[in-house]
Formats: sequence, C-alpha cells, structure tokens
Amino acid sequence: MKSFIPLEAVQIERNFCDVAPAFSRAQAKVEADRCLYCYDAPCTRACPTHIDVPAFIKKISSDNVVGSARVIFDANPIGATCARVCPTSALCEGACVENTLLHKPIDIGRLQRFATDYAIDSRRPMFFSGEPNGKSVAIIGAGPAGYSCAVYLKRLGYAVTIYDRRELAGGLDTYGMAEYKMTQKVSVEETNLARGIGVEFRLGTEVTPELLVQLELDNDAIFLAVGLGQTTKLGVEGENAPGVFDALQWIEQVKTREWTGIPVGRTVAVIGAGNTAVDAATQAKRLGAERVVMVYRRGEAEMPAYDYEYELAKSDAVEFRWKSAPVGIVTDANGAVRSLKCVETLPTVPDEKGRVAYGMVEGSEFEIPCDMVIKALGQSKMTAFLSGIAGLQLDGSGRVKVDEGTMATGNPKYFAGGDCVNGGREAVDAAQMGKLGAMGIHQFISGEIVEFAGARLPFVEKLPHEIELPVPTPIAHPEASAAELGVKSYAAQG
Ligand code: SF4
Repeated sequence: MKSFIPLEAVQIERNFCDVAPAFSRAQAKVEADRCLYCYDAPCTRACPTHIDVPAFIKKISSDNVVGSARVIFDANPIGATCARVCPTSALCEGACVENTLLHKPIDIGRLQRFATDYAIDSRRPMFFSGEPNGKSVAIIGAGPAGYSCAVYLKRLGYAVTIYDRRELAGGLDTYGMAEYKMTQKVSVEETNLARGIGVEFRLGTEVTPELLVQLELDNDAIFLAVGLGQTTKLGVEGENAPGVFDALQWIEQVKTREWTGIPVGRTVAVIGAGNTAVDAATQAKRLGAERVVMVYRRGEAEMPAYDYEYELAKSDAVEFRWKSAPVGIVTDANGAVRSLKCVETLPTVPDEKGRVAYGMVEGSEFEIPCDMVIKALGQSKMTAFLSGIAGLQLDGSGRVKVDEGTMATGNPKYFAGGDCVNGGREAVDAAQMGKLGAMGIHQFISGEIVEFAGARLPFVEKLPHEIELPVPTPIAHPEASAAELGVKSYAAQG
C-alpha cells in the first residue's frame, strides 16, 4: 500500500525518541542513594530472573558501575534489554517498599539501564567462558531464551552454536519492540557480549527437519527456543488486502527506521488490545497517522495490555472501540482498504469456571472508515515443526511440555524454553527459562548440579501491595477490655 506520512523525518525522529531517557551519572547516584537496601528484598523476589537489585544499586551508589552491571548480567544475560522493556511497574518496581502513597518506587529499570549501558559502551567483558569440556549444544532460536541458555552453557565450558532464520540475533527483542522503547542496536550489542566468550551464531539459517537430524547427531543436547509462529488469522473477507498488516511484521518494518518506506494509513484500525497492539497503535500515530482506533472484542477492564501501555496509548490520542468484533474488511475496486466492518458484542453468562465469553449482537453492524488495518491477535504455535520431534509432547494449546525445574522435554536430548513453552510472556521470563535450561542440560550431560544467580528463589505470586491482609478483628473499647482482663484503668481509679 502507498505510505502516507505527512511528517518531516526530523519530527518522526523526535516522536521516536526514548520514552525513558538514560540517567546521567549524577542522576543515577541520587536515585541509587534513595534505596533502602532491604533484607530479603521484595524487588529481587518479584524479578523473574531474581537479579540482586539492592546489590547492583549499592554498587552504583559506590561508583562501581562495572561491578553493578556484572551483578545484573550474572542473573540475567539480557539485562540491558530488560532495563528498557520489562513491565517494571508490575515486577520489581511494583514490589519496591518505597511504592507507597507518599513515595515513588526506586527507578530500578533506569538504574539497571545506567549500569548495563555503561558496561556495554565501555566494552567491558561481562561473562567468562568455562574451561572447554568437550561437549556441544545446539540452540534453535536467538531470542532471549536461546541467548540466555547459550551464555550459561558457555560459562560452563560447552561449545554452543545458536541457529536462527533471521539476520540479526535477539529475536523479538531485536525485531518486535516498539522503537521508542528500544532500538535494534541495544539488543544486537548485548548479544555481542556472548560472541565475546565464543558463542557461535549461525544467523540467516532456517532449521529444517533435515538440519535438525544432523544437529541431533552432532551435539550432546538441543535447546529449543523457537518462539511462536505467524499472527493468528482473522478469518474474515478482505483480510488479504494489501492494506492489512500483521502487527509484528509491520513493527519489524518500523525497526528499520527507514521512515519514508513504512506503510502508514491516514486512519488506522488496530485489532486487539494487548501490548503488541498498543505498540502498533502508538507507532502508527507517531509516524503521522491522523487517527488510530483500537478495536477490542471485550471491555476496557479486560484489556490485556499493561496499565502503563494503555496510558501511553491514551496520551498519544489513540481511540478505543470496546466490545466490538471485526467481521470484515471493506475494500474498493482496486483492493484498497476503505473500512473495517464490526459488530457490537455483549458478555455471556459466566460458565461454571467463571469465564465470560462475548457474543455478537445481531443487527449491530457498523463500519470504522480506515485505509489501513493492523492485526494484533496473538501468534499461533510452531506445532508443525515441534510435533516432528520424537517424544516431544505438546499441551492442548500447542505449547511444549517441560519439567519446570530443568526444562527437559519428553525427548531426553531436547530441552525447551521461552514462548514455545509459556505461550508468549515477557523477555525476562524467557531469559530465566534459558538459565534453567542450561542448568538442566548440564545436569543431563554431566550429572553435576550447578546453580546460577537467581535460579532457585521462588517466584512471588503477588506483589506486596496486591496481597490482601487479613481484616483485623475489632477490639472492644480499651476500658472494657481492661476491665475484662481484671486490670483497673487509671480513669476508673479516679
Ligand atoms: Fe531498594 Fe526498593 Fe528493592 Fe528495597 S525494595 S532494596 S528500597 S529497590
């Protein structure tokens, strides 16, 4: 489709500047000095990779920035990426004891960014490879799970090769993050830390069933970090029109920063209300779309995107059409998108498990005039590829079944982690799975049990402020309770 971008390149650059700019050294020190260095720190517990947050903040405070970065990368090999893209308000910062009505939480994300950027920019080594042990592991997928697994295995002395069909390492961290949160440069430079210790990358390599057979023969174990597949089909008329885009594929074009070549409509309808949908909507707006409307089948309260993502979309003047389901895409004689046809929806009576579905309201059809549609409906699973591996078991949703402690699959030579196991969560969750997978692989090959930083701390189910405290039993009037206890009060004595 023809690109409609009314903005000057300089304005677009401005629109895509960092949403959370880097701290200066002085700012980082002031922020670090606010930390209380809590014992059994809740921020550490709330981090899926269990980074020792007070330890890395303390090191910033004492001007040991490289040491601080080492604490971070020790528990999370994608520490620079997570500093930018983690939903910190729902994790570490949400758990910070300073997160009260009177105070704001320590800005852990930006402190983490300060330390990790410093280490990467100054080319300081963050990892050291172990003594070669003569064993090798193939990793399929260079995203956060595969990359994390590779780093820990290399630290244990394995020969590690990562295979990925894309030209750059980093998976969705490189190709799928909103450009105003993180550029490709960050995740690519971060993966270079692993190259520095000898992890080999075979990029631009599609792992076919034939290549997989060869990798099985050539390696002692295989770690599957294949992620997810294509965006789920909408299944309506007009879906294949040239003005209809898959959100992740479209975001990938934004990541090139070749602004004038990116297709953008004057009015863009985004289908879905998850974090990827918000990323697509806000980026379309920042590229100059006059109007962006997000269309979601359910209500506002059920929006899957994080609150801060919703706020960002609202501040970018994105509009929302709740309880609306797309039923067709109207095109003109040339195939150009003219509108998104929708119907209103209503919640059904909850089933026995309390789940509510949304049914279409008869005769409620309406159209949203638009010249571009972006689909952000979630991704399908890589079932065709995965079900070809003997012994590998998939659950009813097409996710690989693993032992949660070791990430071992039903095939003893295969381990798995990341989106293909959890169905699509945060990069930090994938990084933790990569760590556990490396420990599991090492145990399988050598029989030895090792433990990396942050591997065994239990996950917190809820952040401290989400835990419902028991309602205190009302106590009797102090006078009465003193009397009940047989103690004379001073008032009674008088
Ligand atoms: Fe510092 Fe907050 Fe973590 Fe306590 S909970 S150690 S104050 S960041």
